[in-house]
Amino acid sequence: MSTPQIRYKALDDLLQRRPRFVEPPAQRISEYFGINVFGEDAMRMFLTEEAYHAVKQAITLGSRIERSLADQVASGMKEWGATKGATHYTHWFQPLTGLSAEKHDAFFEPIAGGRSIERFDGSMLVQQEPDASSFPNGGIRNTFEARGYTAWDPSSPAFMIGRTLCIPTIFISYTGEALDYKMPLLRSIRAIDDAATAVCRYFDKDVTKVITTLGWEQEYFLIDKALFIARPDIMMSGRALFGHLPAKGQQLEDHYFGSIPDRVRGFMREFETEALMLGIPVKTRHNEVAPNQFECAPVFEELNLAVDHNVLLMDIMEKTAQKHDFRVLLHEKPYAGVNGSGKHNNWSLATNTGRNLLKPAKTPKENLLFLTFFVNTIAAIHAHADVLRASIVGAGNDHRLGANEAPPAIISVFIGGHLSQLLDDLEKNIKGTMSPDMKTELKLDIGRIPPVLLDNTDRNRTSPFAFTGNKFEFRAVGSSANCAGPMTVLNTIVAEQLIGFKVKVDAHIAKGVKKDEAILRILRDQIVKSKAIRFEGNGYGEEWVKEAAKRGLNNVKDTPRALDAWQRKDVKDSFTAMGVLSPVEIAARHEIELNSYTMKIQIESRIAGDLAQNHIVPTAIIYQNRLIENVRGLREVLTADQAKKATSVQLELIIEISERVTAIKGLVDSMVDARRKANVIEDARDRAIAYCDVVRPHLDKIRYNSDKLELLVDDELWPLPKMRELLFTR
Ligand code: ADP
Ligand code: MG
Repeated sequence: MSTPQIRYKALDDLLQRRPRFVEPPAQRISEYFGINVFGEDAMRMFLTEEAYHAVKQAITLGSRIERSLADQVASGMKEWGATKGATHYTHWFQPLTGLSAEKHDAFFEPIAGGRSIERFDGSMLVQQEPDASSFPNGGIRNTFEARGYTAWDPSSPAFMIGRTLCIPTIFISYTGEALDYKMPLLRSIRAIDDAATAVCRYFDKDVTKVITTLGWEQEYFLIDKALFIARPDIMMSGRALFGHLPAKGQQLEDHYFGSIPDRVRGFMREFETEALMLGIPVKTRHNEVAPNQFECAPVFEELNLAVDHNVLLMDIMEKTAQKHDFRVLLHEKPYAGVNGSGKHNNWSLATNTGRNLLKPAKTPKENLLFLTFFVNTIAAIHAHADVLRASIVGAGNDHRLGANEAPPAIISVFIGGHLSQLLDDLEKNIKGTMSPDMKTELKLDIGRIPPVLLDNTDRNRTSPFAFTGNKFEFRAVGSSANCAGPMTVLNTIVAEQLIGFKVKVDAHIAKGVKKDEAILRILRDQIVKSKAIRFEGNGYGEEWVKEAAKRGLNNVKDTPRALDAWQRKDVKDSFTAMGVLSPVEIAARHEIELNSYTMKIQIESRIAGDLAQNHIVPTAIIYQNRLIENVRGLREVLTADQAKKATSVQLELIIEISERVTAIKGLVDSMVDARRKANVIEDARDRAIAYCDVVRPHLDKIRYNSDKLELLVDDELWPLPKMRELLFTR
């Protein structure tokens, strides 16, 4: 089949598609919510009293589970699994591969040939040795130890996928270094728990634990399977490397919150049902800004669980999509010129006493607690904006951050008019030793924060990090990211900030300053110090770029350079001090991220070269030959004078095609050359920068010329499904 035929076949297939609706297992969600999870109910039913309490303690206190009890848990899990038809089990983990479809699938593959579920005891539950040599480790295992192992994480419940019992685990080297996303996340959860609990106890001695909460919002594009296959660039790199913008883009925004097309609804209903059975509390579903773009968001959960649920959901979405002849695009910017996809991370802290620490309340005392966490978070972002920026890097997100339809690469915090005013007032009014009157005044001010702060008009959708009433929303996270990355960083920097805060407050108290006043004074210092990070205006505007530069805020637009933050001494010190990442782990992660970036640009560059040379240029030449034939024919049948007139347009086209084809050929050659030079660079950072600065710009130039050809060449000959077909069919 010649390529244009593939495009038409794809469009033909698409016309035949019918929606597929699968009924949920029961009318009411409560009847099937979590039935595929070894959760509270299942544990009560299948575990001994003793084993149940051991697991509960491990969850709440992080305590170890004894071997004999682990045997009991394993046996209970196995029995529960059997009632669900389990034949295999697997240790499920999140290596640093990112979440590309093929690699992610492998999480579910029963490790080491999939031992039979019949043999399953405590040792198999607690520890496994995957064939780890194929997972990236940034040199850790070469330097330290040849093998790594997975270890059970009892704080995230086991679950069933198909006939496989999946056990959430962390992945570590024999020398104890983290090789995955989860171990540092768990360490950061503990760090912020300790730091935040200590601070809470200034206010309330009943607080013994602070948990981090995360509510993510997953954006994605859908594309028909047939079109996906007909676009090797999308298939291999997740984004369209070619394609002229369609006449209609997203200008009309007529699909935003519009009705969801039937085929898509069928897909959503099925993956949501699967998700609900796995205990993922999915709730909202709607169209997004761009055509064929959608969003799924669950109710927030404890951070560790929320991270697992997001990874699981991305996988379920991909698997379910195939049943509906769709493919899910999790890439941050599949299509130039329309909105990209993000994954907003809504982050907050809650106490064991049930208080959301980022929610303003009714009394001055409670609001002082709120202000303490609010101001400390802002101060942490100010102190560590660069490493927060580094936590959301990626070849995909580079197209989104700082581009037209996405938050800027400049990290800033939006808090809304009311709270800005309050912080400004506190800055003015807290001075030296305060008189009783001043204190009363202040108390009144603080007491006046309304519990429900932000209505929709006071929301800033252009800020990378926005306060939204009772939580911060980290909006710059990319759609394909593992939430654990940015959340680990956020927890760590806030934990460190809180510890520093407490040391200062304690020092004041030791000098005889009253507690509330000491807290207020330190908060004031932090408000003053972190002012530069607060920005209430339009984050997408050019003005802000200039203003931010004046304020000394960084605007690092590409992955290799944004990652430099990990080389900074203050960053290494903070992560070491908080016990989250050691210098060795940091160096390893840095290298993995650089290499992953390089590989992605390398893949894009290879596909672009291949498509340009083997699909687009030959098509243009076929069309050019037709034009030449036509000119020849006209010259035969017309007089010289007539022919001169009649062939002028064709001749122009013939020449333009030659020019574009020559340009493409030159660019592809120079790109291959740039790649060859980059590939021999030893240093991972230098290599990534060569890919970023020298290889990558070729992609846009090749695309520019190819898109011009797309406009010239007969539509019938064009091999690749066009942007309008990708964006407006379903
Ligand atoms: P928007 O689209 O305006 O950003 P959504 O309503 O889609 O807002 O998303 C809000 C998200 O915030 C949801 O995922 C919700 O679960 C989450 N959320 C609400 N309260 C908290 C909280 N205390 N901690 C963490 N996440 C929260
Ligand atoms: Mg949001």
